[in-house]
Amino acid sequence: MKQYDVAVLGGGLLGRLTAWLLAEQGSKVVLFNAGNRNGEGSAAFAAAAMLAPTAEAVEATPLVVQLGYSSLPIWRKWVDTFPTPVFMQQNGSLIVWHPQDRELAQQFTRDLQRAHQDSSRCQHWHSQQIDEQEPQLAGRFQQGLFLPTEGQLDNRQTLLALADVLERRQVTCYWERVSEPAECAKLAEWTLDCRGFGGKKSWNNQASSRLRGVRGEVLRIHAPDVTLHRPVRVLHPRYPIYIAPKQNHLFVIGATQIESEDDSPLSVRSGLELMSALHCVHPAFGEARILESLAQLRPTLNHENPEIRYDAQNRLVAVNGLFRHGFMISPTVSLATVRVMQALMQQQPLPDADARYHIDVVPVSQNGESVK
Ligand SMILES: Cc1cc2nc3c(=O)[nH]c(=O)nc-3n(C[C@H](O)[C@H](O)[C@H](O)COP(=O)(O)OP(=O)(O)OC[C@H]3O[C@@H](n4cnc5c(N)ncnc54)[C@H](O)[C@@H]3O)c2cc1C
Repeated sequence: MKQYDVAVLGGGLLGRLTAWLLAEQGSKVVLFNAGNRNGEGSAAFAAAAMLAPTAEAVEATPLVVQLGYSSLPIWRKWVDTFPTPVFMQQNGSLIVWHPQDRELAQQFTRDLQRAHQDSSRCQHWHSQQIDEQEPQLAGRFQQGLFLPTEGQLDNRQTLLALADVLERRQVTCYWERVSEPAECAKLAEWTLDCRGFGGKKSWNNQASSRLRGVRGEVLRIHAPDVTLHRPVRVLHPRYPIYIAPKQNHLFVIGATQIESEDDSPLSVRSGLELMSALHCVHPAFGEARILESLAQLRPTLNHENPEIRYDAQNRLVAVNGLFRHGFMISPTVSLATVRVMQALMQQQPLPDADARYHIDVVPVSQNGESVK
């Protein structure tokens, strides 16, 4: 008998959530995280934490959109039970554009309509509705798109609340501790690899879906003169930019999306683009203070869906590929992972795809080769 039932390797978003769910189900869990208790160093620490399945449908896969809609009510339930407060807003989001991007807006509207059968998910707002709902934007935009089912979280409060619930559930947490599957296997019956981009080397051994990092940059600013009641998305020819209002006039502006595994600091070009989007939404942002700029890598598989892999012989499960949707989809991905782990631990048969959410569950051999 080993000391623990499960060792979770990586305590960013997915690792914390799944370790907590496993502990709730009665497993004895240990967690190793290279970054600190606050989550620094994870993609989750940089994220805007938008829960935006309607807008994301324009580019995301149908599976990701479905996981996003299923996850929203689960987040609501969990956040309400966390002993530590987490800011979660479900006021929808507003999409606006610069006059020179009118054609982009027309294309985006057509793509949204194509992606959604249900027209109530996207409403056209004229200037009067924008002025009523977002008084500080009065007179600034002739038209916008309102997506009522969208929301957002405070990413850092979520990471801290999860650290709190893990410790309350007696999960042994090793913060600022790099580990490897071999060390985990000595301590626990099963290992769950949630290293995100940090797991690239073992994820890319042989199996067909390959993991890469996609650079994202954000700014965190304090703008005491600006009040927005919901995230505002600014259409941009290179990437969607959100202005996500958190509590106390803190705004997260982002994120760029660049095909690069360079995680060095924010570039001047990206900084200019993020700040000009901000200034065009409201000139009062000109007096805001820049608190932080961050760049991180989103763990992305070539099919742009999440995937669960397992090696039953070596008692190793790995989950990855949350890409730009980790906050949006992690509740359903974590629950699916727990079901897979429980079936494996109880030696029950496993379906190829998780029946409820259709996430690929891929058996692999020790060197990562698919054994399907
Ligand atoms: C700029 C940016 C903006 C984003 N905005 C959004 C958004 O608005 N909405 C949304 O839904 N998603 C967003 N995302 C995506 C989201 O943050 C990711 O999908 C999510 O964080 C991935 O979760 P993860 O747990 O797989 O990886 P991570 O959150 O990166 O966690 C991985 C953890 O593993 C640890 N680790 C790595 N190697 C080891 C090791 N050897 N030993 C121990 N620990 C290790 C790391 O320290 C880290 O804590 C954004 C991402 C970025 C970068």
